[in-house]
Amino acid sequence: MLNICILGSTGSIGTQALNIIRKNRDKFNALALSAHSNLRLLKEQLYEFKPKYCVLTDSSRAGEIDPKDFPSTKFLFGQEGLKQVVSLKEVDVVLVAIVGIAALYPTIEAIKAKKRIALASKEVMVSCGEYVKGLAAKTGSQIIPVDSEHSAIFQCMQGQIEGSLKRLILTASGGALRDLSRDQLEKVTPEMALLHPNWKMGSKITIDSATMMNKGFEVIEARHFFDISADRIECVMHPQSIAHSMIELKDGSVLAQMSYPNMEIPIMYSFTYPQRIESGVPSLDFIALKRLDFEAIDADKYPCLELAYRALKAGEMYPAILNLANDDAVRLFLEGRIPFTKIPQLIEEALDSIDGSIKCTPENVYCIGSKVRDFIAARV
Ligand code: MN
Repeated sequence: MLNICILGSTGSIGTQALNIIRKNRDKFNALALSAHSNLRLLKEQLYEFKPKYCVLTDSSRAGEIDPKDFPSTKFLFGQEGLKQVVSLKEVDVVLVAIVGIAALYPTIEAIKAKKRIALASKEVMVSCGEYVKGLAAKTGSQIIPVDSEHSAIFQCMQGQIEGSLKRLILTASGGALRDLSRDQLEKVTPEMALLHPNWKMGSKITIDSATMMNKGFEVIEARHFFDISADRIECVMHPQSIAHSMIELKDGSVLAQMSYPNMEIPIMYSFTYPQRIESGVPSLDFIALKRLDFEAIDADKYPCLELAYRALKAGEMYPAILNLANDDAVRLFLEGRIPFTKIPQLIEEALDSIDGSIKCTPENVYCIGSKVRDFIAARV
């Protein structure tokens, strides 16, 4: 029995992880859940899964749950609560699926506790990749990617010996706005940008897919996960989202991991690696698919991708600045306060103006947050 701690149990990845647990009660146990704001769904999950621990990260809302309704669950609160559950002796896997930079602290604590980390939150590797990888190497904690692209690459890398990898090819669906022209992007509303063609996800990441910043973050993550330089990571548009990413080896062989778009496969693999179990995902029907398309990504239409490469090459705190500026810009767009095309502009200004040439540590990442927030706020 694998005891799983799910940070962010009410989000898109968290609920899909619980689906997997529901279908495989003999293999997995939801030992601990954490949630921030969707307490209605959290209560349903507590009734159904009866976890031993539950963390309410927003302790100001503790009054909304009566512990007497959940006698088998111990309630903990805030960052301290997260630290406690990820370090529990009984925990085998910590699934980190929290939105935003809040994911960094509990991930670091889980690494210190030598846990296997199933990492879904992008912010951790994007903002602090080098530090996190270094810490994991020190403690021996395994970090398994959950994102479909990195899981694909991770799966293709199994059995490859050091020095075999030539390049990575990340696939991108193109997001909700892929059929619009550059001029049409000016008038895009949040509702339009939130309609992702292939994946159902949270609103932040769906906007990041529409701007292609999501792919930019994935390039930065790939650099850290697979220890490969930025110039050997490429992105290609693949509208069907069947080939989740590819690796090219020294001899020119290319390996892809393919399936119908379904996050349960990568989530499950992060739990069971290196073993595999039934997912219930239908077998790929190549005859019905007929074709897989690949296209270049239009750099003029998706300036965020280039900004991510720029931040990655600049190194140190620049990827964190990119991430924080994007967080704010996306929030402003969702609130209807800036047009869609202003998102990359604000991020570029932040990269131009804020000094990121200091060492990338978690402390510095937290510190620079308010600087970026003030900078963006002053421009709206
Ligand atoms: Mn992805």
